[in-house]
Amino acid sequence: MVFTCRQCGMCCMYMGDYIVIEHQIGPFEFACESVSTGTPFVARIDEDKHHIFLDHTFPDQHPAACRFLRPDGDLIRCVIHDSSPCQCKYYRCVIMRIFDSQESLIGTVTGNLSLHSNDAVLRRLWEAEERRISHLSADEEIWLQKYLEDKGYRVE
Ligand code: SF4
Ligand code: SF4
Repeated sequence: MVFTCRQCGMCCMYMGDYIVIEHQIGPFEFACESVSTGTPFVARIDEDKHHIFLDHTFPDQHPAACRFLRPDGDLIRCVIHDSSPCQCKYYRCVIMRIFDSQESLIGTVTGNLSLHSNDAVLRRLWEAEERRISHLSADEEIWLQKYLEDKGYRVE
């Protein structure tokens, strides 16, 4: 499934303890650590985002957020997109939205192939194929879409 990040910033709002700045090494360069993987990396503020990074209003108001998150018009963006750790680059919050026959959104599927739904029927269908679903590669996710569509759901 093609995932398009809407740059809402929600997934980074509580990442302040996980993306840690160790020290500054240049005007727009920082030695950092990705705590969850124990990986050091150098964060470079993207050239077109220097001006929004220098405004500290947002991080001051949101101390739990990643230090590299900033509002930019209607968006809330990562200012180190080019040099961010790979787990940030490849993160996909929602890869599928599942609608019933009334066009009501009844479930979402996250990038790690977990279902979030309160719909009992949908949950049972999911559990019936959970073993297979948990082993799907990105190329095979189309199978999951077809599986749900064959059961009468609309998936986008
Ligand atoms: S990955 Fe999802 S939650 Fe994170 S910024 Fe993009 S759309 Fe928002
Ligand atoms: S480095 Fe960027 S993508 Fe990763 S948590 Fe921070 S703001 Fe989000």
